[in-house]
Amino acid sequence: MGVDKCNVYGVFKSAKMENVVAKIDWMVAYDFLDISYNGKLPMIVFTDRGWEIEANQRTEEFLREWDQWINEGRPIPDMTYLEDRNRHMILLLLEKVKETGDNKYIPYLEAWYKVDYKKVRAAIHETIKVFQSEEPFDPTSAIKRENTMKEALKGFAPFDFRIKCWECGKRFIFTVGEQKFYKQKGFSEPKRCKPCREKRKLELYF
Ligand SMILES: [Zn+2]
Repeated sequence: MGVDKCNVYGVFKSAKMENVVAKIDWMVAYDFLDISYNGKLPMIVFTDRGWEIEANQRTEEFLREWDQWINEGRPIPDMTYLEDRNRHMILLLLEKVKETGDNKYIPYLEAWYKVDYKKVRAAIHETIKVFQSEEPFDPTSAIKRENTMKEALKGFAPFDFRIKCWECGKRFIFTVGEQKFYKQKGFSEPKRCKPCREKRKLELYF
């Protein structure tokens, strides 16, 4: 399936399987990844928070790839490779192209415009128009996006975050206050949601 062509292929090759599994478990616990069932097949999928980071990363990679191809003087690739990608990510890529204000991307945009679907085409057209208008680019959206990213990347403290309950699988909020309290007491983070903790307590009593 060409998975070995993916640029993160082999990133953890020096880690042991149990370490890789621990990383994935951590990301599931901290709301970056989730497990979803496709029929009987379990799949690891991004949560909104995880996707925020991944989409940002992936669009950077697309752009760097374009830079490399342009520097090497390669002919414009078959732009259909961007077809059927996540729409949110594609629009983010176009935003970033816009923000560079660099005309060198115009041939890529024009080639892309010819092959993609209507909705993406409209966004590509918008991007080309920005280059042609020579109006200064409004950085507000870029700044806002950067902030969202930083929030997402911050991971846990010092803001409320969600933890997946071991027992029922639902996510619950672990507030900043609770985080402080747990830290002071030297407790590790709760593994179960409140209802499940209460239920367990009762079971231990009786
Ligand atoms: Zn629970």
